[in-house]
Amino acid sequence: MTDSAETVFDLLIVGAGINGAGLARDAAGRGLKVLIVDQGDIAAATSSTSTKLIHGGLRYLEHYAFGLVRESLAERETLLAIAPHLAHEQRFVIPHTPAQRPRWMIRLGLALYDGLASGSSLKRAEALTLPGTPWGAPLRAEFTHGFAYSDLATDDARLTLLNAVSAAQLGAQVMPRTTLVGARREGGEWRAVLQGADGAQQECAARILVNAAGPWTVEVRKAIVGDAGPESLRLVKGSHLVVPKLYEGNQAYLLQNDDGRIVFVIPFEDAFSLVGTTEVPLAAPDAAPQIDAAEADYLCSVVGRFFQAPLVPSQAVWSYAGIRALYNAGDDGKGSASAVSREYRLTVDGGAGEAPLLSIFGGKLTTYRHLAERVLDRLKPWLPGLRPTWSAGVHLPGGGLGKSGLAGLLLELARRYPRLSPDLLHALARRHGTLAARVLGQAQTEEELGGHFGGGLYAAEVDYMIAHEWARTEEDILWRRTKCGLKTDEVARGRLADYLKMKERITAAS
Ligand SMILES: Cc1cc2nc3c(=O)[nH]c(=O)nc-3n(C[C@H](O)[C@H](O)[C@H](O)COP(=O)(O)OP(=O)(O)OC[C@H]3O[C@@H](n4cnc5c(N)ncnc54)[C@H](O)[C@@H]3O)c2cc1C
Repeated sequence: MTDSAETVFDLLIVGAGINGAGLARDAAGRGLKVLIVDQGDIAAATSSTSTKLIHGGLRYLEHYAFGLVRESLAERETLLAIAPHLAHEQRFVIPHTPAQRPRWMIRLGLALYDGLASGSSLKRAEALTLPGTPWGAPLRAEFTHGFAYSDLATDDARLTLLNAVSAAQLGAQVMPRTTLVGARREGGEWRAVLQGADGAQQECAARILVNAAGPWTVEVRKAIVGDAGPESLRLVKGSHLVVPKLYEGNQAYLLQNDDGRIVFVIPFEDAFSLVGTTEVPLAAPDAAPQIDAAEADYLCSVVGRFFQAPLVPSQAVWSYAGIRALYNAGDDGKGSASAVSREYRLTVDGGAGEAPLLSIFGGKLTTYRHLAERVLDRLKPWLPGLRPTWSAGVHLPGGGLGKSGLAGLLLELARRYPRLSPDLLHALARRHGTLAARVLGQAQTEEELGGHFGGGLYAAEVDYMIAHEWARTEEDILWRRTKCGLKTDEVARGRLADYLKMKERITAAS
């Protein structure tokens, strides 16, 4: 920590997933002194392993979760406005099967979805006749009817990261690779024990502790107050496969399997399709969840049920798994995970005169910004004079694209960097928005960007990510801050590893 031992933070946030990072941004922007720690990298856990959709959750309508859907759809519009470089409209095709609800009912559901998103800038839903259309082309001939609707696709890890970057710009201290190992109340404050990756421990003081530990929320609560508390989570592993592009076109597919579960197939990183997800109940959080053979077979079988071309697990070039932490609202834990509420719950421990502990149970990527506002609302009694909400109207770093949007930024970059390839400029614009020019600096040619590590990743961007985005390892860079890992080979990865070691030696020596 750079502050003196005397610093008392207003808020110590445990967990730099989307909920912790979004809260750090909001709170720092309201003038609070914020410290946020994560035991791993920013977004190392669930917030880099989602399906990467900012969505209302069409299927939650089936559970009459209208409040959640409305909140999510409003956030969809807000996030498109504040992070237009990280979020784009994604059209989804739903092939209709006889096992689904009748077509008239689905049409009604989609009209309700559009209605709950009143004022949305996205295209409205429509019914489709599939044969002879590009949307029907990859599907088996039996699928003659379907629907199309819109949501947003995003980059979950970068969305989280840019919230942390923004928080730091607003004065928050961001400490990845730092674990909260315990905390105690003392003199109306929290004394928390933090442990760095090297095992060294330090203490810090905070007026309020926020437990945003996602799947570890119950464990962190136990470490702090000694018991699990009345609230519980259902932990459900969800896995994805990334395979070479399954079809031409920008549309995604929502495939409703005969078992009632939904599998998405979504265009991913230009040359790939993302297929997911599964639902495997877990008894405890797993630090490194992975897809298992049965899940991979399941995803491939659902694709095979709808698409003409069969898919087998060996076609996958990458896979990842994350853990949904679903708030257990009185559910006996036995029903389908799809049916468990995606609503979140905030609890506050601490009596009069005691420092409060606020814990976040559940939630979605989509609702993180609004969740942060609600957390600060709950904490108002301890934060007299708290400044008003602000985060809905201010771009995330790099998001100020202006009226001409990403296309305008690309034109501007092409004018300033005529000798760099359009593909590289496009990738940088998507990752960094208007900050792409800061990544490129004075470089005019690819040679001037330094060593190339494959997949359009150059030393200049790696240096930027180390200096401004807390990147340290190959994994941080190849799989979270970028997805260049999909396009690099062993040799290039080895060069990156050597480069990072060299940078570490220089930092240690300076
Ligand atoms: C398969 C899958 C698909 C999903 N798809 C979508 C989707 O398309 N759209 C959507 O809106 N939502 C989606 N979600 C839900 C969404 O991803 C999560 O709700 C969200 O990422 C949770 O964020 P979080 O910050 O609460 O948790 P996390 O991202 O898990 O962050 C918690 C952090 O706490 C840290 N931590 C834990 N213990 C400690 C400690 N003692 N000290 C320091 N740090 C600690 C962890 O390292 C971790 O980084 C999906 C989830 C899954 C699993």
